[in-house]
Amino acid sequence: MKYELDHQDIRNAVEQLCTDFPGEYWRQCDREQAYPAAFVTALTDAGYLAALIPEEFGGSGLPLSAAAAILETIHQQGCNAAACHAQMYTMGTVLRHGSEAQKKQYLPAIAEGSLRLQAFGVTEPSSGTDTTALRTTAKLEGDNYIVNGQKIWTSRAEYSDLMLLLCRTMPRDQIKKRTDGLSVLLVDMRDCPDKTLTIRPIRTMMNHATTEVFFDNMPVPATSLIGEEGKGFRYILSGMNAERILIASECIGDAKWFIEKASSYANERSVFGRPIGQNQGVQFPIAKAYSQMRAAELMLREAIRLYEDGENPGEEANLAKMLAADASWAAAEACLQTHGGFGFAEEYDIERKFREARLYQVAPISTNLILSYIAEHVLDMPRSY
Ligand SMILES: Cc1cc2nc3c(=O)[nH]c(=O)nc-3n(C[C@H](O)[C@H](O)[C@H](O)COP(=O)(O)OP(=O)(O)OC[C@H]3O[C@@H](n4cnc5c(N)ncnc54)[C@H](O)[C@@H]3O)c2cc1C
Repeated sequence: MKYELDHQDIRNAVEQLCTDFPGEYWRQCDREQAYPAAFVTALTDAGYLAALIPEEFGGSGLPLSAAAAILETIHQQGCNAAACHAQMYTMGTVLRHGSEAQKKQYLPAIAEGSLRLQAFGVTEPSSGTDTTALRTTAKLEGDNYIVNGQKIWTSRAEYSDLMLLLCRTMPRDQIKKRTDGLSVLLVDMRDCPDKTLTIRPIRTMMNHATTEVFFDNMPVPATSLIGEEGKGFRYILSGMNAERILIASECIGDAKWFIEKASSYANERSVFGRPIGQNQGVQFPIAKAYSQMRAAELMLREAIRLYEDGENPGEEANLAKMLAADASWAAAEACLQTHGGFGFAEEYDIERKFREARLYQVAPISTNLILSYIAEHVLDMPRSY
């Protein structure tokens, strides 16, 4: 199978890097729910996680399409970027809304890899998808914000120095618009006094280093505020198109991996004296998943094109994420079914990738919420929630 996409040189180099991290590496991490530290170090050392940081701050200053190519290739090679993809894009909030002093303080160290900003604390147990109902508070007392509350599903918090935290700085009953009153703090978790910050890992069906985080009178210097107080929700939203596009790229990579595995196996495996791939019942789900993947890939490219032209491709980025997640899930299902019993054996890596691919129907945004966005913002139907 041949796919001609942009940034072929980057794709080739990332593919080469991934050969050092074969299935056995990921199986072991998965079995132990261990952080893939060696893989993350290799990506950091090669500079890929600094792709989107402008050159003036020590990064490569590459366009979003290059970051998409990096993440897609990682997934197409059977690896998984979830342990570190946020290091690529979480800094975008600092880049777009941070002060010059904050950019100078943080971005070069993030670009170099000596400082990790890959924890993003938005979701809370009681608010879930309804972000504006979040309850974690930050009250300004002297030179510090005092933070109290809880986040859940804060991925990579144990493997990050900084956390981008969305919290309430004005009580809900005092705000005019429900999107007001929230602020973004860039928390340096290394400086938090003992017992004010507690991070507890959550074991999940796939190896994802996700956690729940508790704040108990945690002091955060007032200088850690990003942008203006009360505008945090808008700042977080401004990074969503890029995030959707990058996650969609990972899903496309996963879909390609599954399709390649499935079609190869369908050719090799002989039952009833002929390759199973000769049966249309085996061919069609793979061909269908391929069609879905190609359509999603076109939407993704359109989203990237508009993004790089300086547009605000909310529709295309959301569609790309949903279609790519659906395509990867269809490909996962076809791949598992094509492998029959062997699909369930750890050593084939399919059951692991199958578990990993399922996440993207739910996170970072669930399919229902994308459909609600399309219904409301593209088709002008009433808001449903
Ligand atoms: C492994 C993992 C990693 C994650 N990493 C992070 C992270 O790093 N940082 C972070 O902040 N969050 C993270 N999340 C959280 C993730 O973004 C949320 O799980 C996701 O947004 C869904 O929210 P929820 O789980 O609270 O579901 P809920 O909001 O409780 O929703 C449950 C179900 O109801 C549906 N639903 C809810 N409201 C509506 C509606 N109005 N219309 C139709 N359907 C609706 C949802 O689609 C969903 O299927 C992660 C989650 C997981 C599982």
